[in-house]
Amino acid sequence: MVAARNPLTLAAVVSLWLAGVANWPLWRTLADLPELASTRGALFIVSLGLMVAGISLGLLALGAWQRSIKPLATLLLVVAAVGAHFMGSYRIVIDPTMMVNVLHTDVREAGDLVDWRLFASVALIAGVPALWLWRTPLQRLPTASQGLHNAAAGVLALCASLGLLVLNFGPMSATMRNHKTLRYMVNPANSFYALGRLAVQKGARPAGPPIAIGADARSKVRAVSARPPLLMLVVGETARADHFALNGYARNTDLETAALGLLSFADVSACGTSTAASLPCMFSHLGRADFGARKQEHENLLDLLQRAGLAVLWVDNQSGCKGLCDRVPNVAARDAPPGSAHAPDLCHDGECLDEALLTGLDQRLAALPQERRQRGVVLVMHQMGSHGPAYYKRSPATAKPFLPECRTHALQDCDHASLVNAYDNSIAYTDRVLAKSIAWLSMQAGAYDPMLLYVSDHGESLGENNMFLHGLPYALAPREQTQVPMLMWLPPQTEAALGVSRACLQERRNLPLSHDNLFHTVTSLMGVSSSLLKPALDLLAPCRSV
Ligand SMILES: [Zn+2]
Repeated sequence: MVAARNPLTLAAVVSLWLAGVANWPLWRTLADLPELASTRGALFIVSLGLMVAGISLGLLALGAWQRSIKPLATLLLVVAAVGAHFMGSYRIVIDPTMMVNVLHTDVREAGDLVDWRLFASVALIAGVPALWLWRTPLQRLPTASQGLHNAAAGVLALCASLGLLVLNFGPMSATMRNHKTLRYMVNPANSFYALGRLAVQKGARPAGPPIAIGADARSKVRAVSARPPLLMLVVGETARADHFALNGYARNTDLETAALGLLSFADVSACGTSTAASLPCMFSHLGRADFGARKQEHENLLDLLQRAGLAVLWVDNQSGCKGLCDRVPNVAARDAPPGSAHAPDLCHDGECLDEALLTGLDQRLAALPQERRQRGVVLVMHQMGSHGPAYYKRSPATAKPFLPECRTHALQDCDHASLVNAYDNSIAYTDRVLAKSIAWLSMQAGAYDPMLLYVSDHGESLGENNMFLHGLPYALAPREQTQVPMLMWLPPQTEAALGVSRACLQERRNLPLSHDNLFHTVTSLMGVSSSLLKPALDLLAPCRSV
C-alpha cells in the first residue's frame, strides 16, 4: 500500500524534477560557459536550479488540488520533455518564432523530427515521474485547509526564489546579458511563454480580409511587337549565402549554372530566420521594420501584380504559401498538370524533389489567361530547397557530388564534414533546378522576355558554435541564419528590353541588400508602376538607361 500524499507534495516533487532533469539542456549550456567554470559558477548554477524549482512550485501550488494536480503536472512534464528533446538535440531555443515554426509544420515535415529519441525523452522525462504521480493516492483535505496550505507553500517558494535572485543578482544579470538566448531555455516556461505571446499577437491584429494594396498599379504599355516579361521567381528554402560558389564558397556547388551568367548579390539579409517569419515579409511592401510593427495584415506583391493585370501562378513544393497565394492561382508541384507526368523517382509518399516544380510547366503556362499573359507572367516556385534536418532527402541519389553524407536527421550523430556534405548536395541540387529552369525559360524567349530571380527565405546553422537549424530570434541569430543567396538571370534580350546595364548590376553585387528589395525589384522587372514603389529599393533603378 502506497502512502497517501498531499497534492502539494506531488507539486514539490514535480517542480524539483522539472528544474533538475527536464532542464538538462540549460544546465549543459551553462556548464559549458567558461566564465562559470569555477566553484562559484557551480554554486550559481545550483542556485539558478533552485530558483527555477521555486518558481515552478509557486505556480504549480495554485493547481495543487486533489482533482487537478495529476493532469496538470502530467501536461507540464510532457511539454517539458518535448522541449528538452529539441533543445538538447538541435541546440535550439524555444521562443515565439520557433513556436510559429512548430505550429506551421505539416505532418510530412514533422515526420523528419519525430524519432525514437523523442519518445525516449518523453518516456524518461515525463513517463517516469508521471507513473509515480498516478500511482500515488492523494490525501483528502477540506477545501479551506488545502487552499491555505497551497497559498502558504506558493508564497514561501516564490519568496525563496526571490531571495536567491537577490543573492545571485550580479552573476545572474551578467550571464543573461551576455547569453541572451538562455532565457528561452527555461523549460517548460519557454513553451508557455511563446504560446502566450502568439495568442496576444493574434488577438491584437484585427481579423478579416487583408487591406488591399496598389489600387493604382498599372502594367507598362508595350509596343505590339514587344514581348511581355516572363519572370520565374524561385523562393529558396534554408539556403545560406556562404555555401554558394558564386559568393566565394570553396566548393563547386554551381556546376550546372556556372556557364549561364548568373548575377549573384552577395550580401543579402533575410527578413526573418524562419519560413513563417520571412515569407510573408519578403512579399510585403512594408519592409522588415514596418512589417514587424504592423497592426494589420496587407495584401502582398502577388496581389499587386495581379491587380496590374499580370498572370501570376504559385507552384508549391513545400508546406504551402503561408497565405501569400490565397488570392492568386496556385498549384501543388506534386500534382502534375493534365498532359504531363513527373519523371520516375521524383516523388515518393507525396513528397517531391524540386525538379517536380518544372513538370508540365508548358501546360501550366498555357492555362493562364491569355490577356494576362500578354502583360507579363510571374511564376513563383516555392522550393523544398535545403529544408532540414534531413538534408540528404533534398537531393536524388544520382546527384550527390559530396560524399559521404550524413543520412540521418539526428544531426548530432554525424560528423561535421558529412553533415556539410549532405547540405551542400542540397545546394548543388538547387543549382541543377535553377539550370533546368533557365533552360525552360530560354525556350520561351520567342514569346517572352524571360528572367529568373532566386532568393532564399533564411539561412541555416550547421554546427557553428554548436548551433543547428534556424529560427533564432533575429537580434541574436548568427550570420549563417540571416544571410541568404540572391541570384539573377537576365539574358541579353531581356537586358535590352529592360534597358538595364549588366556591368552596372555587377558593380552593385556587394552592396548590403535585403529582402526589403524584393517587392520593389520584382515590380520593376515586370514593368509595373504604383505609388507604393520606392525606387531606392529597386535594384535595377540605378542601372536603367531608359
Ligand atoms: Zn524556411
